Amino acid sequence: MRLVDYRPRSQLRVRWDGAPTRPAFVAIDAHNHLGPSPFAGEWANRNAAALRLAMELSDIAAIVDLDGGQGVALEREIERWRPLGARVAVFAGLDYDMWAERPDFGDEEARRLAVSAAAGARGLKVWKTLGLRARDAQGRLVAIDDQRLDPLWAAAGELGLPVTIHVADPIAFFEPCDGSNERWEELREHPDWHFWPLRPPGHPEADGFPSFDELIDGLEAMVERHPETTFIGAHVGCAPEDLARVARMLAAYPNWNVDLAARIGELGRQPYAARDFICRWPDRVLFGTDAPPDPAAWSVNFRFLETRDEHFPYDPEAGPGSQGRWAIYGLGLPVDVLRLVYSDNARRLIFCDLPGAE
Ligand SMILES: [Zn+2]
Repeated sequence: MRLVDYRPRSQLRVRWDGAPTRPAFVAIDAHNHLGPSPFAGEWANRNAAALRLAMELSDIAAIVDLDGGQGVALEREIERWRPLGARVAVFAGLDYDMWAERPDFGDEEARRLAVSAAAGARGLKVWKTLGLRARDAQGRLVAIDDQRLDPLWAAAGELGLPVTIHVADPIAFFEPCDGSNERWEELREHPDWHFWPLRPPGHPEADGFPSFDELIDGLEAMVERHPETTFIGAHVGCAPEDLARVARMLAAYPNWNVDLAARIGELGRQPYAARDFICRWPDRVLFGTDAPPDPAAWSVNFRFLETRDEHFPYDPEAGPGSQGRWAIYGLGLPVDVLRLVYSDNARRLIFCDLPGAE
């Protein structure tokens, strides 16, 4: 047997009533990809009737589609979901390639965001491209807290659009890809997700990537500078391995919120810390999955948040190594916390005009 064939099955004989197929409260998925992006898959071509059916099977009241982009693509995406009315919020995106062509890229993005808002965009999605790939006309990486982007963040605040932002995370992508890397299998599948080697300290323009901590420090400086803009830090504030740091940011910046998207694997391996974290910040944490709308994908999230089930896979569809080889433990969150995380926080920040608020 080769090591790669070794897939031990747990022989724990735990009581299990089956994962909940519906949430304790009608939920809002605040982080999803339905349009032309690497993560949407077949949903990029499905219609509103298919989405309505998928949502109704799992009691999903509303969903955020982060894949709006800009211009005609954005208009098309908004049009595709129009039959679902306020239940789908399409977020606009940025044109990172343009930044290398226009010295005024921050002003231009601000102008385009206003156009996107007029077309019906309900928020802005920022990809990890910021900080790791996007470059200016001199060929230099644009830092997350680069002041040339201030007009964009200010415009989001003035337009009342929340900004869902993902930078850096996860930490393992900034470590050597060797036998000690906890995401080695994932990096082997996606070598372009590896941000290594790091650039040497003190040489900001040398070849190599900024470190994880440098990127998160830049994020924090930017969020601090724009208190009028609402930010939603994707994937547990971009640092689910470091909940103490995320908690410090939540304490310091009332405009900072986080979603849970695609990180039940991280939270579920530290269930005591994760439960304490969510219970301390129940009005700042948003439910979101980052998984194609599908009963199985939503169900494992419900199981994680609601039950006290032990040692179960965070991604039943994928292999054990999709985000690291470990199992997770349910948080058994209290009902008043579930109500906020599942629904109330997203209604306040994104879906103010969604009918049926309790
Ligand atoms: Zn995502």
